[in-house]
Amino acid sequence: MNKAKHVLGISGGKDSAALAIYLNDKYPQLNIEYYFCDTGKELDETYEILQRLESYLGKTIQKLIAEEAKNNPNDHPFDHFLKMYRGYLPSSAARWCTKKLKLEPFEKYVGNVPTISYVGIRGDENREGYISKKANIQSIFPFRKNIWSEDVVNKVLSSDNNSFLAETYTQYFKGNKLDKVTSVIFEAITPKYTQQKRFEDLLNAGVVEFNKVVFAFLKSTQYPLATEDIFPLIENDDVLVRDDIFNLLRKSGVGVPDYYEKKVYTVENKQGDYARSRSGCYFCFFQQKIEWIWLYEQHPDLFFKAVQYEDPAKGFTWNQHESLDDLIEPRRMEQIKSDHLLRKNKEKSFKSPYLLDILDDTESDGCAACFI
Ligand code: SF4
Repeated sequence: MNKAKHVLGISGGKDSAALAIYLNDKYPQLNIEYYFCDTGKELDETYEILQRLESYLGKTIQKLIAEEAKNNPNDHPFDHFLKMYRGYLPSSAARWCTKKLKLEPFEKYVGNVPTISYVGIRGDENREGYISKKANIQSIFPFRKNIWSEDVVNKVLSSDNNSFLAETYTQYFKGNKLDKVTSVIFEAITPKYTQQKRFEDLLNAGVVEFNKVVFAFLKSTQYPLATEDIFPLIENDDVLVRDDIFNLLRKSGVGVPDYYEKKVYTVENKQGDYARSRSGCYFCFFQQKIEWIWLYEQHPDLFFKAVQYEDPAKGFTWNQHESLDDLIEPRRMEQIKSDHLLRKNKEKSFKSPYLLDILDDTESDGCAACFI
């Protein structure tokens, strides 16, 4: 029986969908609640994957809408707030949309209950994401080797805890292994031997053992996991990367959101391919230029709706220094496609599929609330 609330936000993207399937299949005892923060401006493909997931999980995904927007049934939630912000479109520097439409409804839904929030950042990503910092919400990253958030790791590895760490490790390691871990714990932090290196050494000595030590440490804190007697994920040392996510989604029958499927375009008599790289609002300002072209060519109705939000005379455009009307000028479109093709061909010359993945997907921008 869980004492804390266990929740998982479904963004409409592949990673959160895969995480829901993964946890449902591997840890059915966690009794997770699923939610989706609805801006009213998602692609149809997002709503379709939500339905397929609900059938697979046999559970409803709760749709969360900001309270203030609920009182205005004539507007979609995004439009309600846009009026409040006097037409100022959100941007990476002024992300009122994520705050108002994702984080605040989530924090309201959770209230003050100790909550474990599962986040689908993958093992091949190097980011923490834009996540809630409320003290009663603890984020866990099951797809990564390190399932813990940065703040937890920093606290555990504080030098004040060295004796606690050394003693707790005696329950899990003996002999040489224990000696090695003990010397890592007491090794002085220097510019050469950094805290990060120390952390990696402990994790590499044994992921499950590290997790057990962290879980024991959390018992003395106010973190939500302190309320749980057992937490099965501490035994988990799976690491899931991009290919694993696609395999998992396809194998489950839920499938991959359609917007990830690549479509062919032609430029200067050569062929390239494009797709949307992430979930979120169809007009999201985080999308790359080539994704705007994808939207224009694959969902022209949505593209022209996005155009309607712009007022270049007032400086309200989704992209800095360029309106969407300018973006679809034939010569500009050709240039964007040509640059994209050139970049993709360059990336292919890198041997590492990992690097290719990062460059291809550009998922490191943005936020955990919208794109995972
Ligand atoms: S998807 Fe983009 S536009 Fe929509 S809420 Fe998230 S950051 Fe804002």
